[in-house]
Amino acid sequence: MIDLLVVGGGPVGLASALFAARAGMHAVVLEPRGTPIDKACGEGLMPGGVAVLARLGVDPPGCDLRGIRYVSDDAAATADFPGTPGRGIRRTALHGALAGAAAAAGIETLPRQVRDVTQDENGVSAAGLRARWLVGADGLHSTVRAAVAGDGVPTRRVPRRWGLRAHVQTAPWTEYVEVHWSRRGEAYVTPVGPDLVGIAVLTCERAPLEQLLATFPSLRRRVAGRRLGPVRGAGPLRQPVRRRVAGRVLLVGDAAGYVDALTGEGLCLGFRCAEALVERLRAGRPDGYERDYLGITRTHRLLTGALVAATRLPAVRRGVVPLAAGAPPLFRAAVAALSQ
Ligand SMILES: Cc1cc2nc3c(=O)[nH]c(=O)nc-3n(C[C@H](O)[C@H](O)[C@H](O)COP(=O)(O)OP(=O)(O)OC[C@H]3O[C@@H](n4cnc5c(N)ncnc54)[C@H](O)[C@@H]3O)c2cc1C
Repeated sequence: MIDLLVVGGGPVGLASALFAARAGMHAVVLEPRGTPIDKACGEGLMPGGVAVLARLGVDPPGCDLRGIRYVSDDAAATADFPGTPGRGIRRTALHGALAGAAAAAGIETLPRQVRDVTQDENGVSAAGLRARWLVGADGLHSTVRAAVAGDGVPTRRVPRRWGLRAHVQTAPWTEYVEVHWSRRGEAYVTPVGPDLVGIAVLTCERAPLEQLLATFPSLRRRVAGRRLGPVRGAGPLRQPVRRRVAGRVLLVGDAAGYVDALTGEGLCLGFRCAEALVERLRAGRPDGYERDYLGITRTHRLLTGALVAATRLPAVRRGVVPLAAGAPPLFRAAVAALSQ
């Protein structure tokens, strides 16, 4: 029998399968899309995420990131990561590197879409396959989550946020992830190659990217005259989830719940949870994964949740960058906490 059936061959699903293979488990991945998979993402991997990939022997090409810079019309604040750099990595490069490592480890990826999951005390079945355990790594709008975890947490009436991203063909002008703040949202700038810069906008508004970019004058000037590449979108971003373990089924990555992309940690947290999840399965203690998940994501849930909530108020939103610029130790501490 298959030990671990991984639904979703995105970055976190592939990392889960790789950790499982290293633990001597027979893992199979189900992913309907072909390699390499692209996705709306800011494409900045935190130093902690680079470290997890290194433990898997995966070293995708990209640009070193020294830290985070917050920018507004009249202020800027910069904080370096305290240890090793992060990395700006094109999603296709990240996926290609992980898929290559999975193939080299003998992990089979089958082009199937899962529509339902059933389980009994001995195993779990999906897409015509049966396994001892199943991991739902099928993203923000997870089918596995809907099939096994029941209803989500009752949601508070908060404005929904969305993400849009595109690339500009130009040499990077910064070694930092720049986060530009405006009254309509945040624009992320991430260098991802010698001649390629990613721009992702997070906002409550449903408007074309070009229109949203007009509200970030200094960024608009930087890329003036350059054509934006294809635009991809994702959302709504907030996906509250009640629990991540349901019998023989466990959730990881965006499928396990999502706060917001504002602090750019989705990949790093997903990789760390994938490692913890496999360790729990190896030890025969799947229930402990829920505690691991809550521990690993705690800072992110508190910090990102509070920042998203507070900056709904226009006065707070206007004050974020001046506050970060006026209190460097505070900003450095926040960046250090998020970098892991
Ligand atoms: C605008 C934006 C900016 C972001 N910026 C950053 C950033 O800078 N840094 C960062 O770390 N994170 C960032 N994130 C978050 C990051 O993109 C996600 O956390 C990350 O992609 C999660 O990976 P995943 O493998 O869990 O899910 P995904 O990458 O979504 O992969 C899920 C996979 O499951 C497959 N799938 C779906 N349904 C099924 C099914 N029924 N059966 C089989 N397969 C299925 C899909 O085809 C897909 O390949 C950002 C997100 C957004 C939206």
